[in-house]
Amino acid sequence: MAGNLVEIVRRMGMTDPRLLAAVAATPREQFVPPRSAARAERDEPIPIGHGQPTSQPSLVAQMIDALAPTGEDTVLEIGTGYGYQTALLAHLADRVYSVERYADLAEHARANLDAMGVTNVEVVVGDGTAGLPEHAPFDAIIVSAAAASVPGPLAEQLVEGGRLVMPIAAGVADIVTLYAKRHDRLEQRRTVTPAQFVPLVGKHA
Ligand code: SAH
Repeated sequence: MAGNLVEIVRRMGMTDPRLLAAVAATPREQFVPPRSAARAERDEPIPIGHGQPTSQPSLVAQMIDALAPTGEDTVLEIGTGYGYQTALLAHLADRVYSVERYADLAEHARANLDAMGVTNVEVVVGDGTAGLPEHAPFDAIIVSAAAASVPGPLAEQLVEGGRLVMPIAAGVADIVTLYAKRHDRLEQRRTVTPAQFVPLVGKHA
């Protein structure tokens, strides 16, 4: 079960009981390829195909902690992968839209989420840098791949007062950054952690 990951997240200083409950309720072995299931309780990235990794759980938890989704929020996630972060968001938000560019990864994520009984998520195949205008605006947006700046459509599709968390490419490391939308523009709130992400590949990246 996910008790080991809860302990790791707690030791890193995260105390939000809702976040810890979401981690406890989400068995990571359901969200990695079966051949890697034995490694799922370790706080490590795991390859999921196409040269993409699913992020280490502590990093996912730090990003969600910064995003601070409430139970009323509609959240947009870019970069579904195998759906681990999506499952945590589904636990914490009212509704989640998640965009993945690889159709087979999206299919795995849908199957993994279905197997967990998650019903408040829609996984969409496409270029997440364009957002999802048909479901906008979003209360919170989280991006799991790095680019030099936030794609314009994502900033546009965030509500006034909404939060956005994304790794910003900065030379050797990417810097996970929290923004808030004020007076119709994104303001940087704080940096969350340095990390290594795959590049965000798309029209507006
Ligand atoms: N949140 C996932 C991260 C998976 S890795 C997890 O922790 O498991 C990043 C993912 O972003 C990859 O699956 C990659 O295919 C996807 N990605 C990269 N650029 C994208 C884009 N423009 N639109 C949608 N998905 C994208």
